[in-house]
Amino acid sequence: MITASPQSRLSPAAPDWRALWRDAITDPKELLRAVGLGERTDLIPPDDAGFALRVPRGFVARMRHNDPTDPLLLQVLPQAAEHDRVAGFTMDAVGDMASRTGQGFLHKYHGRALLIASGSCAVNCRYCFRRHFPYGEEIAAAGQWRDALAQLEADPSISELILSGGDPLSLATSKLADLSRGLAEMPHVRRLRIHTRLPVVLPERIDDAFLKWLASLPLQKVVVLHANHANEFDAGVDAACARLRGAGATLLNQSVLLRGINNHVDTLTDLSERMFAAGVLPYYLHQLDRVHGTAHFEVGDAEAMALLEALRARLPGYLVPRLVREIGGDTSKRPIGG
Ligand SMILES: *Cc1c(COP(=O)(O)O)cnc(C)c1O
Ligand code: SF4
Repeated sequence: MITASPQSRLSPAAPDWRALWRDAITDPKELLRAVGLGERTDLIPPDDAGFALRVPRGFVARMRHNDPTDPLLLQVLPQAAEHDRVAGFTMDAVGDMASRTGQGFLHKYHGRALLIASGSCAVNCRYCFRRHFPYGEEIAAAGQWRDALAQLEADPSISELILSGGDPLSLATSKLADLSRGLAEMPHVRRLRIHTRLPVVLPERIDDAFLKWLASLPLQKVVVLHANHANEFDAGVDAACARLRGAGATLLNQSVLLRGINNHVDTLTDLSERMFAAGVLPYYLHQLDRVHGTAHFEVGDAEAMALLEALRARLPGYLVPRLVREIGGDTSKRPIGG
């Protein structure tokens, strides 16, 4: 359990996010017990297919009890199907292995550079391409961001810097401040975008120090969250979103279309409605990256397009995400079904 740090003793109302991060559940049996399924050891495969279970307790608290089909549980619990070998599902579905394990600077799309800022995440999502990347804690952030800053400085066509990962908010705020100090010398970089799941899975990360840093940036700020189901939102997530908006960030969300989790028009409708209630607009609905161990989550394109059509018939246009797939070599995410 959490060992009180000096800081959390001083302000018990705001637990330190690092302590909560370390306190995540990593034992599948403990997770099942926490959701009232302690007897269902049949749900746990003999091994985790090389990708450990990891989930913060606050996220577990949003799972329904006694329900092995809970959509949050299914995102994190290892399954036997992860061992299935399925044609077309490879170790490097988007062809980025070299750059993602290297210095972490990706410049594939016009005007935008993406940094793999960190390889760490507070949660291990079973469907993620990251399950096969053995990268360390820091990638682009290593060496005071030196390589990334040099590449940005050398290319005035880059107007938007995207921090991705892993989860860039796994880095200390002081590390992020090192980066923003370097950016101050580069007026061509006008926007900072952060791709992060932390405000959803560990909203305590959005603490005062982080907000102060974010609000201080002389840049336009976009935070792209990652939630796949309405149940991922609770009062803590709402508060984190409100604080991010208060610091001047535009909030968007990307989801992955996942069989058994959100491949239903009611579920996707609820997700859009719920995120908008938190001040977040839907951005992308991704078709799964076809990486080994994730085939059981895949939804075919025909079903995906039918879902989108049904969503469009229900929701205002601004609550309908763009259905896309990432294809190596393309100049943008590829829209599915136009
Ligand atoms: C997804 C991605 C982006 C961002 O694309 P947008 O369509 O602007 O969201 C930028 N660079 C890389 C390498 C990406 O994979
Ligand atoms: S990169 Fe995103 S989807 Fe992948 S494990 Fe981390 S939080 Fe989950």
